[in-house]
Amino acid sequence: MITRYEDGVHTDKLSTRFLLPGEQPDDWKKVLADSVTDPEVLLNILNLPDTLLPGAIRSDKSFRMRIPRPFIDRMTRGDQHDPLLRQVLPLGEESEEVSGFSLDPLAEQSQNPTEGIIHKYQGRLLLIISGACAINCRFCFRRHFPYEDNRLGGDNWMQAIDYIRSQDSIHEVILSGGDPLAATDSRLARMVEALSDIPHVKTLRIHTRLPIVIPQRVTKEMLHWFCGGRLKPVMVIHCNHANEIDEQVEQALKKLRQAGAIVLNQTVLLKGINDDSGSLADLSHALFNAGVLPYYLHLLDRVQGAAHFDVNEERAKVLVNELMQKCPGYLVPRLVREVAGEASKTPIPVN
Ligand code: SF4
Repeated sequence: MITRYEDGVHTDKLSTRFLLPGEQPDDWKKVLADSVTDPEVLLNILNLPDTLLPGAIRSDKSFRMRIPRPFIDRMTRGDQHDPLLRQVLPLGEESEEVSGFSLDPLAEQSQNPTEGIIHKYQGRLLLIISGACAINCRFCFRRHFPYEDNRLGGDNWMQAIDYIRSQDSIHEVILSGGDPLAATDSRLARMVEALSDIPHVKTLRIHTRLPIVIPQRVTKEMLHWFCGGRLKPVMVIHCNHANEIDEQVEQALKKLRQAGAIVLNQTVLLKGINDDSGSLADLSHALFNAGVLPYYLHLLDRVQGAAHFDVNEERAKVLVNELMQKCPGYLVPRLVREVAGEASKTPIPVN
């Protein structure tokens, strides 16, 4: 049996950190709990050289590696440049300090009026449902965010509901994280029921990577609380490469569409992963085939530890122009960047 490394403790058991006391894991939770968190185990599974291990261990200490096995199954054995692997394998480069890359690139830590809320867009508000993610992406702009102080645990979600009720300009609530779908269906159903009782809230949006990395997360219960009520359901998934969409993912995304959700995708432009127009075109076609429209192509948020993923703005514009030659307009995502303090994403003109 493989020895796993969970939160600093070696264990041969499945982790139960995502379960409430007495709760039985269903399929997606079992898969989540069985994620690979030890770089050495990952290198063994993928037949990769030990020379990658010292850097991986060093960077794992500042931002823990976590990869669900269905995502690993889509990687090519023996290829250390695999585009899925490169998104999640800790590398020695992450510990290099690079000028212009900071711990909180979007200054979010000064924009939460009450615990669990980020209110920086007009008419919309983010609720941080869960500090946990199913997968830890090495380029994540929130890799240093103090989730423990800013998620809706215990009673503080009622304070968040009271805040939303008091702000009648808010018509859309965005469940974010971490990954909001790392929370249980029963907890999310209660939250959505409370939001549905606030008349000025019309739309429920979820930003999630879970249907991509663990497609079993699209459960019947989820489709019920997300698509079966008064609020218009919008899901923005996060997928960076066509290889992330296998048959199971495609089926999960189709279920969401059939239940009535609008499903969009956002991609981060990442050096060595999708920074060529062929890869971006393949991704757009794979998404469309699964009923998903490409929405945003983000420039990297300049977070410390992710500088080796950076693609500069001029190169990004060239790529989008090439993509326009290869795809119909509805498959070309909007190139944007987030600017700290701005009320919305900043579009980047490409012509
Ligand atoms: S799933 Fe999203 S929030 Fe979680 S680590 Fe990846 S990019 Fe960050």
